[in-house]
Amino acid sequence: MDLFEYQGKQLFARAGLAVPSGEVADTPEQAKAAAEAIGGTVVVKAQVQVGGRGKAGGIKLAKTPDEAYAEAKNILGMDIKGHTVKRVWVEAASDIKKEYYASVTFDRSAKMPLVMLSAMGGMDIEGVAEEHPDALARLHVDPLIGFQQHDARWLIHHVGIDEPAQKGVFDALMKSYQAFIDLEATLIEINPLIWTEDDRVVALDAKVSIDNNALSRNPELAELQESVTDDPQERMAQERGVTYVKLDGDVGIMGNGAGLVMSSLDVVALAGGKPANFLDAGGGSNAEAVTTALEVLLSDPKVKSLMINIFGGITRCDQVAEGLLAALDKLGATLPIVVRLDGTAAPEGRAILAERAPDNVVIAPTMLAAATRAVELAKEAS
Ligand code: GDP
Ligand code: MN
Repeated sequence: MDLFEYQGKQLFARAGLAVPSGEVADTPEQAKAAAEAIGGTVVVKAQVQVGGRGKAGGIKLAKTPDEAYAEAKNILGMDIKGHTVKRVWVEAASDIKKEYYASVTFDRSAKMPLVMLSAMGGMDIEGVAEEHPDALARLHVDPLIGFQQHDARWLIHHVGIDEPAQKGVFDALMKSYQAFIDLEATLIEINPLIWTEDDRVVALDAKVSIDNNALSRNPELAELQESVTDDPQERMAQERGVTYVKLDGDVGIMGNGAGLVMSSLDVVALAGGKPANFLDAGGGSNAEAVTTALEVLLSDPKVKSLMINIFGGITRCDQVAEGLLAALDKLGATLPIVVRLDGTAAPEGRAILAERAPDNVVIAPTMLAAATRAVELAKEAS
C-alpha cells in the first residue's frame, strides 16, 4: 500500500522526524484557510502517487492566503501523469540550503533492509545512481542487529554531508529506520531531505509504502487503505479480498492463479486486444469467488467483453461452471463472455455451460482461441 505524501509526513511527525507543519485541503477555500492558519509563505503541493510533481507544475509557492487559493484552484483537478489531483497539502515553505536523499527499503536479493543516502538529493535518484554512482551510499542492515549509530555515521561521512547538517541527518536516518520497522514498511524515501538556511534538517517529501500483509497487525494503517484507493473497482476488490489491478483496455480478464492471469494478458495482447484489468480469483476458486470476481469486472463500464481462463487443479471446472451460472443469474450480465476451461473436470464444466449458459457465453477450446474471440467481441461491441 502506497501512501500519499501528506499521510507519510503525518507518520513521520509521529516517528519524531522533522517535517514542515501543514494541512490538507480539498478545495481552494480550505487551502486559503490552511495558509492563514500556517502563516507566512506556504507551498501548495498536489497529492498524487507519482513523482516529479514539481516539474509537472503540481507544487507552487504562495506568499499570501489569496495566492494559496489561486494555486490550489489551479492544481486541484490537474492531471499529473494520468493521476487526477483531488487534494492538496499546504505546508509552511522552507528555505533550502541543500537537498539530500535518504531511503530505507528491502534488497530482496540480499534478503536485508537497505539504507541509502546521498548528498545529491531533490532530483531523480535513479539518474544520480547511474551518473554519479559514488554519490549514493548504500548500506545493508543485518535485521537481527538492526541499524546502528555507527552505520548512520558511516553513511554520512561516505557521501560528505555538510558538517552543520550532520547531526540532523543522523537523527533522520535513525528515525527513518525505526519507522521502517515499526510501520512494517517496504519503503521509506525522503527526497529531498533538506538542510535549511537556519541549519535544520527536514523531510520535505515523503514516500512510504506499507506491507499489505502487515495491515492486520496495524488497524490504524489499514484504515488509511480506503483513502489511498480511489478507483471504485479496486476498492470493491479490496473489500472482497480478490487481487485486481485496473488497466486501460476493454477486454476484462479473470483467471485462477497469478501466472495464468499474466499469460492471459499476454495472449490478449498477442491477439491484438487490450486487457482492461488483471483479476486473479485465486488458486482454489469456488462458485463464490467466481461471483465476487465477476461483480468487480462487470461494474467497470470500460469492459466490453470478458475472457475467463480457468485451469482446474484443486479447482474443479464443473464447480466453476456452476459458479459462473449462478453469478450470471444473480448479476444478469449481457456482455459477451468467452470461457476457456481446462484441467480437472473440464469436460463436465464445458457440458454444463453448453447446456445451461445464456447465449452471451461462448466456450473456447484453447487459451489463444478464447483470447482471439474475446478481442473480436470487444471490437464489435465498441
Ligand atoms: P516531487 O517533485 O513529486 O518529488 O515533489 P517534492 O516534494 O520532492 O518537491 C519537488 C521540489 O520542489 C523540491 O526538490 C524542492 O526543490 C521544491 N520545493 C518543495 N517544497 C519547497 C519549499 O518549501 N521551499 C522551496 N524553496 N522549494 C520547495
Ligand atoms: Mn520528491
